[in-house]
Amino acid sequence: MSLILRKPDFYDSFRCIASRCTDTCCVGWEIDIDDASQKAYRKVAGAFGDKLRQNIEDGHFKLLPHDRCPFLDKQNLCEIYTHLGAGALCEICREHPRFVEVYGDIMERGLGLCCEEASRLLLEGKGPLAFTSEECDEPEDEMDEDDREVRDEVMFAREQIFKALADTSIPFKERLHQAFGYTGDKPLAPFESASAMVEFLAQLESYGADWDAALARIKAKVYAAQEAGRLDKDSTILEDQGFFSETESARLLAYLVYRHYSKCLFEGREQGKLMFALFFWNLARFFTRELAGNAAADAQSIKIGAIKILSKQLEYAEEIMEIVEISLDG
Ligand code: SF4
Repeated sequence: MSLILRKPDFYDSFRCIASRCTDTCCVGWEIDIDDASQKAYRKVAGAFGDKLRQNIEDGHFKLLPHDRCPFLDKQNLCEIYTHLGAGALCEICREHPRFVEVYGDIMERGLGLCCEEASRLLLEGKGPLAFTSEECDEPEDEMDEDDREVRDEVMFAREQIFKALADTSIPFKERLHQAFGYTGDKPLAPFESASAMVEFLAQLESYGADWDAALARIKAKVYAAQEAGRLDKDSTILEDQGFFSETESARLLAYLVYRHYSKCLFEGREQGKLMFALFFWNLARFFTRELAGNAAADAQSIKIGAIKILSKQLEYAEEIMEIVEISLDG
């Protein structure tokens, strides 16, 4: 049986920009090596084969100081790629930043927003986020009839959210209300105050230095405002200063719903997964505003930087997603 493969409109345009990237995917993560790659690495001959084997421990690459992959060279190029070719990359490195979810006979692919090029493609897309569907030959996951019905209901509900976000005939605020029941009067919800939200973020295990630095600046700002008595009404702290256009906001929100909402079929927390999109979007605006005050970069790069930091911190650790979704699952 073949699958229906769904992809967001920018998926096929993605190409890793490699040395032009201001980031690298090879720092800050523990990279698990799939069994087939480990087997292949055991057979690589010569000095490079020895280096490969010496740098693998418990199924992942032993990280160097600052969590660098041991195969990342001084030019931030991958030595496995340069010595052995693209085909020798382990599955994570080959696939990253792509993700895939399978719901019975529906497969959904996407690109993680931890990648600056993926974020750029998402934000720069023209008009509302759209999806393509095509048949593909991969095997489907088993799903009984009852589960298929629930899946179809969840996907239908998601479709209504996409439609509401894409409906440019109504004001943007109304679109948010239709999609999420969001009125904008409590931009920090479910948090009572900016300091409560910052404290919540601070208790999450940090993914690394960029997050720590951004959060420290925001924390300082929130506490300074609090001391100056400017924080009694928190609504101003998240004022949208127009960094994100309505199209960008709608595309980001729809994409976050696409990536997370349907996973409630496996993990529950339906409301938390829906609200995660709003939470992330509000934080992206907040972080962009704060980072913009500290950087000489252009507005687009700052927005992408904020999305990237948030994605790395929030979307890539199951435990963190669970904590955040539970807190949003009102
Ligand atoms: S962040 Fe994206 S563009 Fe940059 S190196 Fe990684 S995959 Fe390539």
